[in-house]
Amino acid sequence: MRTLAKDAVNKIGEEITLMGWVAGRRDHGKIIFIDLRDRWGVVQVVFSGMPSSGELTKIPDISRDFVLADKLRPEWVVEIDGIVKERPKGMENLELATGKIEIQATRLKILSEAKTSPFDVLSDGREIGEDNRLKYRYLDLRRPRLLKNLTMRDKIISFIRDYLHKKDFIEIETPILTKSTPEGARDYVVPSRLHPGKFYALPQSPQQYKQLLMVAGIERYFQIARCFRDEDTRGDRQPEFTQLDLEMSFASQEEILALTEELYADIIETLYPDKKISQRPFPRLTCKEAMDKYGTDKPDLRKDKNNPNELAFAFIVDFPMFEWKDAEKRWDAVHHPFTKIRNPEHEIRKENAGRLMAYQYDFVLNGCEIGGGSIREHNPEILEKVFEIMGNKKEDIRRQFGHLLESFEYGVPPHGGIASGVDRLVMILEQEPSIREVIAFPKTGDGRDLMMDSPSEISKKQLRELHIKTAD
Ligand code: ASP
Repeated sequence: MRTLAKDAVNKIGEEITLMGWVAGRRDHGKIIFIDLRDRWGVVQVVFSGMPSSGELTKIPDISRDFVLADKLRPEWVVEIDGIVKERPKGMENLELATGKIEIQATRLKILSEAKTSPFDVLSDGREIGEDNRLKYRYLDLRRPRLLKNLTMRDKIISFIRDYLHKKDFIEIETPILTKSTPEGARDYVVPSRLHPGKFYALPQSPQQYKQLLMVAGIERYFQIARCFRDEDTRGDRQPEFTQLDLEMSFASQEEILALTEELYADIIETLYPDKKISQRPFPRLTCKEAMDKYGTDKPDLRKDKNNPNELAFAFIVDFPMFEWKDAEKRWDAVHHPFTKIRNPEHEIRKENAGRLMAYQYDFVLNGCEIGGGSIREHNPEILEKVFEIMGNKKEDIRRQFGHLLESFEYGVPPHGGIASGVDRLVMILEQEPSIREVIAFPKTGDGRDLMMDSPSEISKKQLRELHIKTAD
């Protein structure tokens, strides 16, 4: 049975079997040292050509395996039997968790050889060009820093799931092949083979589905959801990203914010006990206050911006409902059209658009917007008015949003929700400069996957089946 490198310390005197990668090899003539790495740690293995101690003379194959050990190179995958021994006094390596022991090898099997890696996989990797790292991402991910990022990401996500399940939320998957949702970005579209000339859209968020789940009586929904937005290259964006998407029925804005606050404070306390949250309750600033005082709607409220362990969460509330889009000469929703307006119903008219306020909130951490949400308008007539203010014709509204408006005619509970970015949260907590460092297989700034070489051309046959002609 296999023993993990980290567990060898508990097996002094026993013969164990290790499996993993060669992290390093030092050849001292009659002795070869191998650092053997698996996901959990590194342990030193010793191959000595001339066995002297009692137990080693029993080993018939030792010289053959010594010769084999001499061939080992970094990143080869091996299986090694050996006896766990305490290292001689003075030879311990206190920097290594297994530094007080070493494994006296009794058998070596090479499971696979490895070409020389295009870069060092054990450094922190910041010195290596990103294109190269992304092309060989499966090697880049061997780096302890990236392994830690993925491990902490998993811990955060599983903490969120446990936490919300305890509060009676249900995680529900919503479709990836869907219809366009207006969330302010361009859609990725997927041609339909069975319905010539028609297209699915990948969801910019599960917004309409989660609202329909409220109509369905789910009351408390969440999803670790993948969202797709076809935006121009802008800063640290990815064409697809992950968010904690959440929706509740019969909940006030304050209840949604309080739940969010408690969840995030618990994540920090449990998984990042060295970090300090600047202020509890998280400050709630109106959009106007934030703009007047800090000149931004995502202020960085840290007391000491050089302190990497300080976390300043804040909620920004009371956003205007609409903003004027000069290029398009129309009003657009600041958040999205499904947001409830705070003003009384009779004020909801186009000529008032500029002064209508919304039940919208943003969630901010250290000057970074990590989430946002709103209480939704559940009156179909008002929702139709909102779409009209945004310049949509009545028949277009019915065509695009008829399903949602109609569902609201069958007993809709008041509801609201929030969505918080998982990638950005992990990035900030792990003090990484980019979300690409916390996503297993990210795309480049211009949306390419250098490892898979996508996007890529497809065959003429595929195009024909999809009823698509390309321009060139
Ligand atoms: N769907 C919104 C977004 O992705 C969040 C929400 O309103 O719940 O930003």
